[in-house]
Amino acid sequence: NLLLKIDELKVSAGDRNILKGLNLEINEGETHLIMGPNGAGKSTLGNVLMGHPEYKINDGSIYFNGEDINELSVDERAKKGLFLSFQYPEEISGVTVENFLRTSKMAVTGENIPILKFQKQLKEKMDLLQIPEEYKERYLNVGFSGGEKKKNEILQMAILDPKLAILDETDSGLDVDAIKVIYEGIKTLKDGKKSFLVITHYNKILDYLDPDFVHILVDGKIVETGSADLANRIEELGYEHFKK
Ligand code: ADP
Ligand code: MG
Ligand code: MG
Repeated sequence: NLLLKIDELKVSAGDRNILKGLNLEINEGETHLIMGPNGAGKSTLGNVLMGHPEYKINDGSIYFNGEDINELSVDERAKKGLFLSFQYPEEISGVTVENFLRTSKMAVTGENIPILKFQKQLKEKMDLLQIPEEYKERYLNVGFSGGEKKKNEILQMAILDPKLAILDETDSGLDVDAIKVIYEGIKTLKDGKKSFLVITHYNKILDYLDPDFVHILVDGKIVETGSADLANRIEELGYEHFKK
C-alpha cells in the first residue's frame, strides 16, 4: 500500500532553492533511510512534509494516503498520521511529560482520553522503551540530558502512533550507548504497518534498524537509491562520489 508519494518536488525558503525535483515513494510498513552531506536539504524535506510555513512548494506534489496534502496545516497533517521528531524541543516548566503527552494525543486524535486510560497506555509504551516510571512526572525537557530528550521524542512517537514517523538526526550528539537505546526503542515500534523515514549520518544504525531502502540526497535531489548495503558504500566512497 503506497503511503507517501513525492513527485518532482521543488521547494524554496526565502530566495533559496533547496529541493530541486525530489522523488520518493514509501509504502506502508517500510523503513527508509536518507543520508547526504550537510546542507543537501534533508531537514527541509522533513519540514516540508510536516507543513512548516517557512518552506514554499514551487512545483511538484506530495500525496499522503492518496491525498494531496500541500494545503494542509501542521496540525491537520499530524491528525492524518504524520510525525516529525524535534517538534517540541523547548523546555516547558510546569508541564509534566505525562500531561504533555496526553495533551498531544488528544490534539491528534480529537478525542478526550481519561487520565487513567492514558496512564495505562503510557505505562505500556514506557515499559517497551525501558523508560523508568518516575520520568513521566518530570517537567518536559527541564534538566533533561541529550539522551533523555531524544528518548522523550521516541516516547512521544510511540504514544501518537503515526502512520509515517520522520526522524531527523535523532542520533546526533548522542553517545553510542544512548544511540543504542534510541534505535532499539524505534525497532520495538516497528509493527509492519508504521513507516519510518530516518535521516541520519550514522552508519551504525544498520546494526539496529533494518532499512528497506537507503537514499542519498545531494543538492536537493535523491541521486541514488539502494538497499542497506548502499549505506556501507557511502562510508567507503564518501558523498563526493555520488555528486557527479
Ligand atoms: P541538511 O538537513 O541536509 O543539512 P537543510 O535542509 O537544513 O540541509 O538545508 C539545506 C540548505 O537550505 C542549506 O543551505 C540551508 O542553509 C538552507 N536553508 C534551510 N532552511 C532555510 C531557511 N528557512 N531559510 C533559508 N535557507 C534555508
Ligand atoms: Mg545539517
Ligand atoms: Mg538537517
